[in-house]
Amino acid sequence: CKVKDMSAEVVDSNPYSRLMALQRMGIVENYERIREFSVAIVGIGGVGSVAAEMLTRCGIGRLLLYDYDTVGMTKTDAAVQTLADINPDVVLESYTLNITTVEGFETFMASLTNKNLSTSKSGSGIDLVLSCVDNYEARMVVNQACNELNQTWMESGVSEDAVSGHIQLLVPGETACFACAPPLVVASGVDERTLKREGVCAASLPTTMGYNALKDYFPTMEMKPNPQCSNSACLERQKEFALAKPARDAIAKAK
Ligand code: ATP
Ligand code: ZN
Repeated sequence: CKVKDMSAEVVDSNPYSRLMALQRMGIVENYERIREFSVAIVGIGGVGSVAAEMLTRCGIGRLLLYDYDTVGMTKTDAAVQTLADINPDVVLESYTLNITTVEGFETFMASLTNKNLSTSKSGSGIDLVLSCVDNYEARMVVNQACNELNQTWMESGVSEDAVSGHIQLLVPGETACFACAPPLVVASGVDERTLKREGVCAASLPTTMGYNALKDYFPTMEMKPNPQCSNSACLERQKEFALAKPARDAIAKAK
């Protein structure tokens, strides 16, 4: 689903200026640290391409881009070309693949755990995964990968008219995973392909309604993981999170 036409946007040529502005506003404390972070973006369409551009302008250390689609050239190669022009300091990796195939999933997992090129200080190869895909199947695959790797990720969805959308932060074991609370259309066993309607992204139906741009209304809520989740990796992460509670409490007390 397309989000907006960026062509009319006035862009600042200094890649770090947006972050410096955030620092001035007191939103970001130490903006230089962004160079130490690696972000993986799955789906370089309406949402993913804008997220990639923003992170590039902010001076992110490394971006991993995944998409199977082409726009003449592959979407990920086209993005790398554009992003490298904006900020040559960012390490860019292009993966033209379908994450829902066996082969694509293997490459996806291997790239997420590859520490060779990593700027990440965390144990895994990257710091954050952004899911910017437009279908339920791909979201479930990102969910599977992140649950297996204990990887924090964010899920996004935008309605076709671009006035409503949702963002979900998923921390394995700590918050609900994508399978903990399946979208209503999926839970009721309806094939998402039969559900395509004018103005509606079926895959993100229930949560897309969260943000309303016309009213600038952005409700937030916290979702605990489901102890009966169908995803076994999620259940493992939930167990680990529960076991680590005494340590968390001790740290909180020490503060
Ligand atoms: P529109 O849907 O309006 O034509 P679009 O094709 O850019 O726009 P978006 O919803 O904006 O689609 O972006 C979703 C992106 O996610 C697309 O670029 C699509 O190719 C990509 N995508 C979806 N599923 C997968 C998948 N399984 N593997 C890799 N990329 C995927
Ligand atoms: Zn779950």
